[in-house]
Amino acid sequence: MAMRERNLKSIVKNHSIGTVLWFSLISLLFIVIVALSIGQSILLSSSYRDQVKTEQLYVCREIYEDLNGKENLDAQYVNAYIIRKVISSGESIYVFNASGEVIFPFSGAYDEENDYAKIFTNLTEKILKYTDGKIGDSVGYMQSKHYCRACVFNVNGQLLYLYLSADASLGGEMLAPLISQIIFVGFVVIILSFLFAAMISSGIGDPITSINKKAKKLAKGDFSVDFKDDAYGSYMEISELSETLNYARDELSKADSMQKELIANVSHDFKTPLTMIKAYASMIQEISGEDPEKRNKHCQVIINESDRLANLVNDMLDISKIRSGINALKSSVFNLSEYTVDIIDRFGYLTESQGYTFNVDVTPDLFTEADKDKIGQVIYNLVGNAVNYTGDDKTIYIRLYEMNGVIRFDVRDTGVGIKKEDIDTIWDRYYRSKETHKRPIKGTGLGLSIVKAILTKHGFNFGVTSEIGVGSVFFVDFPHRAVWDIESDQDEENN
Ligand code: ADP
Repeated sequence: MAMRERNLKSIVKNHSIGTVLWFSLISLLFIVIVALSIGQSILLSSSYRDQVKTEQLYVCREIYEDLNGKENLDAQYVNAYIIRKVISSGESIYVFNASGEVIFPFSGAYDEENDYAKIFTNLTEKILKYTDGKIGDSVGYMQSKHYCRACVFNVNGQLLYLYLSADASLGGEMLAPLISQIIFVGFVVIILSFLFAAMISSGIGDPITSINKKAKKLAKGDFSVDFKDDAYGSYMEISELSETLNYARDELSKADSMQKELIANVSHDFKTPLTMIKAYASMIQEISGEDPEKRNKHCQVIINESDRLANLVNDMLDISKIRSGINALKSSVFNLSEYTVDIIDRFGYLTESQGYTFNVDVTPDLFTEADKDKIGQVIYNLVGNAVNYTGDDKTIYIRLYEMNGVIRFDVRDTGVGIKKEDIDTIWDRYYRSKETHKRPIKGTGLGLSIVKAILTKHGFNFGVTSEIGVGSVFFVDFPHRAVWDIESDQDEENN
């Protein structure tokens, strides 16, 4: 079965839609014609049977009425009468006497192929069985593929047996019109199916061929192709296909420009620290090597720049690990309220040294279930960005509260806000707004990409709302867990 399916698939695969359609239509119509012919011939043969039976009944009754009970009938006359009936009805007609001899037509008209003894035995048997030998009552039956009818009658005071027979198989002359009809219909059907196949295949095949050509162009990096042209006035599926391909083209084009941007940004971000490292190493070699104070200062710059490079590489690795699933999530139930406050405390130095204000409103003892370390990274990155981008009032508003069955974390700044067209792109790897900004916290440009990767992996809802000149609010919804979840976890561990 599977083998046949595979054969069918390979046939379909190697032929054009037109050919397959044409072949399918012809096969389907061939089946219909065969079924119709069989049905027709069944109908024909049943109506032929009814016709023969009625005719036999009629002829039998006629002969009976014309001859029965007559006296002094000339044998020549009866013979001629029977022959006339044979000719007019097309039936084989014989008259037997009581001893089973054929007496009409005269022996010269005998059909040598007929076994008269057998015919006679059969007819007397049937007459006895069904009419009880009653004069005038006829009986119809089948004998060796012949419709037969027999009855007893009386001529010149002698008991005679009338026997009529007709071939039960349909004659060629009856089937001929049917055959010529089928040939005609078949011919018309072949032409029609050819036209249909051509019409449908041009409706499907032509757009597909053109889409295929364009897809090849797209594969070579030509993002100017428009698949929608081919779908015009075409079938729904092709229209959907072209829409999907247009979507794929847009995504590929986006990915392509992002990749270019990424390479440009990464090389730029790598270049600066590398240049610094090289410059300071040369300085140590040539100038400050002998001066421990200067040497230390220069070495420190090299260490800082190396750290920056290491951070960059680590962030990039983090994202690819989270996305590829190498770093599986280590979920546990924990007190998100306490954890959030701990993380915010890490920014405490900014309050003292640079005058930042952290407005914190955290509902105590809210428990969630997630990978604690990774969620720590999310909160740290979001608060860090708010610090970097908040306005001159240097204030950051952080809240953690219950809302519609989830725990919402949001962090608001009073900065310039994010432009509508940038809202979606800021989450993408290595996107950076064109405007440069003074940053108290050094970022690698990958912070939000890491946030997105972690939260997507968790399946948590997150987002940003922003108003130009007013500020931005980044939010994350955590699932709410009851305290006993943590206890039951611990119970399981203890067991
Ligand atoms: P980085 O901050 O290191 O550039 P991120 O991935 O954290 O990298 O942020 C990407 C970009 O999103 C930033 O360059 C900035 O343009 C924008 N952005 C992020 N947070 C904010 C914010 N709170 N306000 C305004 N813009 C922001």
